[in-house]
Amino acid sequence: MRIVVLAALAASLVVPAFAGDAATAARLRDAALNDSTAWDVLTSLSYEVGPRPAGSPAAARARDWAVAKLKELGFSNIRVEPFAKPSWRRGAEDVEMTAPFPLKLAAVGLGGSKPTPKKGIAADVVVVNSLADLKAAQMGAFKGKIVLVDQPMKRGLGGYGEAVEARYAESEAAKRGAVAYLTRSISTGTGRAPHTGHTHYDDGAAKIPAAAIGVPDADLLAYLAARGVVRLRLKLASKEQPKTVAWNISGEILGSEKPDEVIVIGGHIDSWDPGLGSIDDAAGIAIATAAAKMIAALPQHPKRTIRVVLWGSEETGGAAKAYAAAHAAELARIVVASESDLGSDRILKLELPEGAAGKLEFASLADLMKPLGIAVSPEAAKDAGSDVEGLQKAGVPVFSFVQDSSRYFDYHHSADDTPAIVDQAQLNQNVAAWAVLVYLVADSDADFRGKH
Ligand SMILES: [Zn+2]
Repeated sequence: MRIVVLAALAASLVVPAFAGDAATAARLRDAALNDSTAWDVLTSLSYEVGPRPAGSPAAARARDWAVAKLKELGFSNIRVEPFAKPSWRRGAEDVEMTAPFPLKLAAVGLGGSKPTPKKGIAADVVVVNSLADLKAAQMGAFKGKIVLVDQPMKRGLGGYGEAVEARYAESEAAKRGAVAYLTRSISTGTGRAPHTGHTHYDDGAAKIPAAAIGVPDADLLAYLAARGVVRLRLKLASKEQPKTVAWNISGEILGSEKPDEVIVIGGHIDSWDPGLGSIDDAAGIAIATAAAKMIAALPQHPKRTIRVVLWGSEETGGAAKAYAAAHAAELARIVVASESDLGSDRILKLELPEGAAGKLEFASLADLMKPLGIAVSPEAAKDAGSDVEGLQKAGVPVFSFVQDSSRYFDYHHSADDTPAIVDQAQLNQNVAAWAVLVYLVADSDADFRGKH
């Protein structure tokens, strides 16, 4: 306790630890705004590897891409850490309206969906306006029908949290007798491209095939179903692969004084299969690697090690747990962790670990972030990306850059997730912010666990 008091007293008497480094941080920030590394990494992963679900042959190509890219960018201690990851592979899919007139619908099977019989499922569709209406329906109410939940999504992350529950409602439909389940895409866009994502089957309920349809297709079915009989034919093929493997891949910028103290940042390398996985999440990998590479190019590395991790299975889970388990012995030496996984649009605010916002050593942060339009929040970070949840649960402090997510869900998990929707200036604003914060923490003695 006495040590704590003395250290606090000392901190109030000396010049803030970052004062001398603010100029370097500002130079890093300004250089990042005009650097092409993040764009190059994002386009390279998107175009050279393409869609890369965990467990697919493309995931192995993504692993090889990651190792080569980390080497090329100058990272050391490159590690490939395998973990068991049962997976699901999509097959041929075809969803068609057969009455009142024939029309091929824009549809995509949801991850983990059971396949239909080979000849498909043909049935009338029942449209319900919301998940609440589905849950309010009596057991057996939709016997033999295909149920569509046509619940629109509100813009932004909060809207997603609410709307995504409809994607997990296949068992609610099955309990009411449905033979297949459709959800309006969990999307704020107006394009026809359907948005995939994971299913959630309850134990004890029949596992019925499930798909998402494009937003305009949902509007069409709702309009027609209100006026008469609408009939669909669904063909969804897929298979379970119980024995596949995924990899968490990492590289380091070694610390110059305390290399065993580590800052863990990164993004996830797996993606859904309809698009190129550019905003989800080549962007996160691009931002973290570019920020680390810029710091590495300084005349001297900061005191602590910066580790960039490319987590290998976020969309269908598993990477966070595997990473925390594989690094159990070094948890106390991980200073702080965070993942970039909300696309490539600008950062609005920074949330620091609990108790850090008021600390003297972070006094220069607000000034450094201000030209980027980023506020340092008095609120502590709670959510720092699902791949660091395992570390967070084990007591590793986390920070979070909260991004503008108003466009993100127009494209997320759809065929439109490509570099064409990425704004390079906003991508670089992310790089600048990550470079500043990671550099300052890496070159400090800041201990977010509160042991000063
Ligand atoms: Zn993601």
